[in-house]
Amino acid sequence: MRLTHLSIRRFRNLDSQELDIPPEGVALVGENAQGKSNFLEAIYYLETFRSFRGARDDQLVAFDEDVFRVAGRLTPPDDDGRAVEVAAAFQKKGRRKKVTVDGAEPDRLSDALGRLAAVVFSPADVAIVNEGPSERRRFLDIVLSLNVPGYLRALQEYRQVLQQRNAALKDGQPSAMVRLWDDSLVRSGARVMAERARWIDAVRSDFNDYYAEVSGGQTAVPTYRPSVDLRGGWELDTVADAYREGLAEVADRELRVGTTVLGPHRDEVTFSLEGDQDLDVRDYGSGGQRRTAALALRLVEAATIREARGQEPIVLMDDVFAELDAGRSERILDLIEREETGQVILTAPKESDVKVRRDVLPRWGIQGGRILS
Ligand code: ATP
Ligand code: MG
Repeated sequence: MRLTHLSIRRFRNLDSQELDIPPEGVALVGENAQGKSNFLEAIYYLETFRSFRGARDDQLVAFDEDVFRVAGRLTPPDDDGRAVEVAAAFQKKGRRKKVTVDGAEPDRLSDALGRLAAVVFSPADVAIVNEGPSERRRFLDIVLSLNVPGYLRALQEYRQVLQQRNAALKDGQPSAMVRLWDDSLVRSGARVMAERARWIDAVRSDFNDYYAEVSGGQTAVPTYRPSVDLRGGWELDTVADAYREGLAEVADRELRVGTTVLGPHRDEVTFSLEGDQDLDVRDYGSGGQRRTAALALRLVEAATIREARGQEPIVLMDDVFAELDAGRSERILDLIEREETGQVILTAPKESDVKVRRDVLPRWGIQGGRILS
């Protein structure tokens, strides 16, 4: 799909405006704090109905306003097939979110997820590598919810059961009461872990190739480190058995500490630089190495979209070449030009920072939230 029209109302500092977006994409060039990242945030909102920057919905409403609305028209490539209109609105008062696809509200919000098939590249992605394990779980959850049927449902069930089980443990309820939750905890949790394990295994070699290409030869791989011992394998039943056994082993400890200590909510993903010693990028990597790992993650995310949804992802790039050395920038550029052939919407503070599709993308300006197209 290509985003061919965007309608913005009271979103952050952006002027309320109607924009026709060229099929090849656009480069939005403007000074700091004019609204470039806000523009990409508004677009990506139509993919996940959340801010890719982790902001709360009420923070996205323009100051002193109550409601924002973003709507996008998605047109199939080569104009064969019907265009789809996805819209999302949020009201601060009452905290109401309304999503529509072609004017109709889906039964569940999750039915409308992922229509854009977009991926965002941003310098802030380095947080996925740098910050605590919950950032990496969040990344996995978004990618898998959007691309693996059934994942989101399992995750939601897991979260709900976990909450109830934790409440029972915290209350000091007897073990039999806690155990009541175990069947659904194991069923949903095993599904989540199995899908995470499979995905990381499936993208491992592509991740390594991307990393090696950008770094100029060094290799790095992601490794899934579940809290449950999954050495028996990743078949759903095997994972469920391992999870159940693990829970039995930690039962006394859980009663003591008053919380669930095993399961996908305690998973970790590490990235190791391969060499004489495998070094964790998070502990030993340089700034550039961490950024490269984050970029490789986004590239495998794009490849996942391509494979799972059978469409070229729309690439949103927020000032991606900030702070990278010339060699790395050059190699990233080659890689993106080669791999990402869909629509590209990018932002840059200066014309000279427009690197991807330099000669092709129309230029737009932005000043104080007004896009000059
Ligand atoms: P940079 O080049 O520094 O990354 P940018 O063009 O990407 O800048 P944005 O992050 O899009 O800038 O932010 C532009 C401005 O939007 C900020 O100055 C911020 O104060 C303002 N802003 C953020 N949230 C809101 C909101 N809810 N209502 C109005 N303005 C907002
Ligand atoms: Mg920005």
